[in-house]
Amino acid sequence: MENFETLAIRTQTKRSQFNEHSTPLHLTSSYVFDDAEQMRGMFSDEVEGNIYSRFSNPNTTELIDKMCLLEGAEAGWATATGMAAVFTTFAALLQSGDHVLACRSVFGSTHSVLTKLLPKWGISHSYVDLNETEKWEEAILPNTKIIYIETPTNPAVDIIDLEWLGKLAKKHNVFFVVDNCFATPYNQQPIKFGADIVIHSATKYLDGQGRVLGGIIVGKKELISEVKLFARHSGPALSPFNAWVISKSIETLALRMDRHAESAFKLAQWLEQHSEVELVKYPFLPSHPQHEIAKRQMKSGGGIVTFIIKGGLEKGRAFLDQLQLISMTANLGDSRTIATHPASTTHSKLTEEDRLETGILPGLIRISVGLEHVDDIIKDIEQAIG
Ligand SMILES: *Cc1c(COP(=O)(O)O)cnc(C)c1O
Repeated sequence: MENFETLAIRTQTKRSQFNEHSTPLHLTSSYVFDDAEQMRGMFSDEVEGNIYSRFSNPNTTELIDKMCLLEGAEAGWATATGMAAVFTTFAALLQSGDHVLACRSVFGSTHSVLTKLLPKWGISHSYVDLNETEKWEEAILPNTKIIYIETPTNPAVDIIDLEWLGKLAKKHNVFFVVDNCFATPYNQQPIKFGADIVIHSATKYLDGQGRVLGGIIVGKKELISEVKLFARHSGPALSPFNAWVISKSIETLALRMDRHAESAFKLAQWLEQHSEVELVKYPFLPSHPQHEIAKRQMKSGGGIVTFIIKGGLEKGRAFLDQLQLISMTANLGDSRTIATHPASTTHSKLTEEDRLETGILPGLIRISVGLEHVDDIIKDIEQAIG
C-alpha cells in the first residue's frame, strides 16, 4: 500500500469489538487502565496508549497517522485550528532571542503572530519577498532559527523553489517550516524537498466542505516531540469529532483536488483572454513568473486563481456585489466557489504600503474555485465583471 488515494482511504484505526467498517467517533475525555502498572507505564511514556483526549484519541491518531503517510513525515500532531498549528510550532521551537525569517505574504493571522505576539517574548522576525530569491541568504541572521514560508502564497499565488530553499536552510542549520495549506499533500510534499515541518489548516482543502476547523503539524520526530510537549500541556487539542470529519474528508482529497485544479485552470485561461482583466495568476499558466518551478514541485496548479480587475478598489468591490452563485466568505478550499477582495477584507489591517509590497493591489480578486460545474462558475464571473 503506497499510492496516495489508497493511503488516504485505508489508513484506519484498528477495529473495535463491533467490527465496524468505517471508523467510529470516540467521544470520551479519558481512558481507563487495566491495572496500576499499565497506568504507570503510559504516564511515563514506556507504554503507548490513550490516557486523556487532550493528549491523544483514536480519531486524532488516525488523522495524524494518515497525514504523516501522505506528507512523508515521521511524526505529527493535530490541533484545533490552523492557527493553533502555526502558533504551537513557533512556541515549541523558539525561545527568547530567536529570529524567524518568513516570506512577506504570509497568511493574515500568521503575520499578526509574528508582528504582535512573538515580540512579547523577545522573538523577532523579518520578511523577504518570495520572488526575490537573491535576498534570502543574506537575510539569514546568526539568531535565525526558522525559515517559514507558504507556497503558493495567499492571495498572490507566488511560488518559491522548495528544493533550493530547503538546501539553504540546511546549509545555515535553520529549521525549514512550510505551511502547505494551499497545495495539500496531494499536490506538493515539502518534506521531499527538505522541509523539517509541514503545517496545515485542515479547515481548508483537507475538510474541503467548509464544516470544521482543524490544524496539523507533521515533520521530524525530534521536532514533533517538542511540539507534543508544548501542546500536551498548553491544550490546543483537536476535538475527536473534527478529527473524524477531516479524516473522512481526506478519503476524497485526491478526487477533489483534481477537479478543483481542472476547473481553476479553465477559469484562469478564460480570465486571461478577458478585456476587463489586467492580470491573471495561476501556477500552471505559462504566464506565471514561476511556472517552471511550479511544474517541478507541484502535481497541479491547485484551486486558487487570482486576477486583477481593471478599475481598482471600486471595481473590485462592485464585482463582488454582482456575484450571484459565488459566495463572499472568509474561507477557501471549499466545495463552494468563494470570491474575496483581500485589499478591503483579509488584508485590510495591513498598511497600504505593506499591501502593495505583498502584491495585494486594489483590484485583486481571489477565487477559490469550488466543485460546482465550471461553466456555471465562469458564467457567474462573466456577468459580474459586466
Ligand atoms: C486559513 C489558513 C490558516 C489558518 O487556519 P485556521 O484553521 O483558520 O486557523 C493558516 N495558513 C493558511 C495559508 C491559511 O489559509
